[in-house]
Amino acid sequence: MLVPEYVDLKDKTILVTGATRGIGNAIARNLAQQNAHIVFNYRGDHGRDRAQSLAAELEALGGRATAIEFDVTDAAKIKSSIEDFIKEHGPITGLVNNAGISKDQIVLRLKEQDIAQTLNTNLLGPMLVTAALSRSFLKAENVSVVNISSVVGLMGNPSQISYAASKAGILGFTKSYAKELASRNIRCNAICPGFITSDMTEALDDKIKESYIANIPLARFGDPQEVSSLVCFLLSQASSYITGEVIKIDGGMYI
Ligand code: NDP
Repeated sequence: MLVPEYVDLKDKTILVTGATRGIGNAIARNLAQQNAHIVFNYRGDHGRDRAQSLAAELEALGGRATAIEFDVTDAAKIKSSIEDFIKEHGPITGLVNNAGISKDQIVLRLKEQDIAQTLNTNLLGPMLVTAALSRSFLKAENVSVVNISSVVGLMGNPSQISYAASKAGILGFTKSYAKELASRNIRCNAICPGFITSDMTEALDDKIKESYIANIPLARFGDPQEVSSLVCFLLSQASSYITGEVIKIDGGMYI
């Protein structure tokens, strides 16, 4: 188990976006092992079967799991799916804004459509999901929101102008939300992973991967489970005095 005993999440109901793969999947699995109720989104008919099998896998690990349908760029569907869930199951007490995409391209080849899709998924999406949950957060106790940004949002990266802008934007959103809702005991933090093994980084060329690893003091990509441990800590009361914080998890890449 990658989470210490004092991180107690068993009475929590936590929405994790993008739990079908990669980092979000590791977070959902870790939460299931803590006996939390995991709510996760899937997209369209093609995602429904996978969502059903994921829910069964999470329940086998010890959690409760409920799949709800929305794309993070679809404000109306987010709102209706979340409202339906809350009516049936009660308040959601934690949120991990994890769903994200990257469409890497040098600036001279950037397409407006790709910029919009990246900003809509990575920046507008988390704001829409968080806003849709905020009224219910006000009625819940010890709410924690964790936004998955990236070290690229802090340091920039060639060919990732839109991605870096979206991930930097998340940090402003995190700090503002933390300030606005602290008086209601709602916390909000961001984490900035470096390179983590997932479908997103599998798509990278081997030479590029080697050049990135050469600049990481711990000399490897991170594992999604390592990210999930940090997220579980931030979701739990073990981090009750931490809000508005930005935490890097990057093997020392951005020291
Ligand atoms: P993956 O590509 O492995 O998974 C992305 C997840 O997001 C999938 O579950 C996908 O769902 C979901 N998703 C994408 N677009 C949407 C959308 N419009 N609406 C709903 N869900 C959507 O990504 P990673 O696990 O690598 O990354 C997860 C997060 O971590 C991202 O925000 C990423 O930017 C960030 N990050 C990743 C790093 C890495 O090295 N991997 C480093 C730093 C940050 P579906 O299965 O339906 O496509």
